[in-house]
Amino acid sequence: IIQLKNLKKKFGTNEVLRGINLSVNKSEVVVLMGPSGSGKSTLLRCLTFLEEPTEGIIQIGNHEVTAGELNRKRKNDIRELRKTTGFVFQNFNLFPHKTALENVMEGPIVVQGKSKEEAMQIARPLLEKVGLGERCDHYPSQLSGGQQQRTAIARALSMKPMVMLYDEPTSALDPELVREVLQVIKDLAQEGMTMVVVTHEMHFAKEVADRVIFMDGGVIVEQGTSEEIFDHPKEERTKRFLSKVS
Ligand code: ATP
Ligand code: MG
Repeated sequence: IIQLKNLKKKFGTNEVLRGINLSVNKSEVVVLMGPSGSGKSTLLRCLTFLEEPTEGIIQIGNHEVTAGELNRKRKNDIRELRKTTGFVFQNFNLFPHKTALENVMEGPIVVQGKSKEEAMQIARPLLEKVGLGERCDHYPSQLSGGQQQRTAIARALSMKPMVMLYDEPTSALDPELVREVLQVIKDLAQEGMTMVVVTHEMHFAKEVADRVIFMDGGVIVEQGTSEEIFDHPKEERTKRFLSKVS
């Protein structure tokens, strides 16, 4: 469902992604790990063109976009490709002056042109699904970090994405709030949602990941099942990284 061909990204002379080839199957859960600066966030951001890749082809579902100059057709292709993915960031990125419900309604109204009524019918069940049925009318400042992040997940789901991308969704949370967010992500995985998750939560990866990818220096160093990567890493760089995080 996702295909990356020879994806490269440079910031000036700094080559942050050095030719990433990756395909993710429908309903597959891929956990992406690697040291700080290895290019994990850049990879996710290039996938949705939040960052313009320098080279390569990105395909999600039936949408394919090649890196290159920004003409009108490409802009349109990028907009369409973006609609296929939900993005959840480390810092929730909710609108502070909107309630949880309004945050989740925003996409359907603004991007999909739905009426308020329709948007509400999409948003409420999603907030219930992430365990926030009672918190619909709370503002972000009145929600815990875990509740804010679950709202952000509901918001991403409101656009009915084909794939969900998470960039360290729990790393800004107090430890006691991590579990409730991971549980929501886990439930979605069980329902067959395709996802790519950047996280250092090894327990989560062991339980949920179909595949773990270890990245370093802008390349995929090694990939496999969580057992293969965590219990029997082949590459020196993977071993070194794991000895630091575990
Ligand atoms: P972390 O675990 O710390 O989040 P990461 O693996 O997500 O790290 P990236 O954020 O993708 O790493 O960054 C990879 C490299 O790209 C870093 O060297 C970073 O300084 C550089 N970089 C990222 N974004 C930009 C930008 N907008 N402009 C210039 N350089 C950038
Ligand atoms: Mg990052």
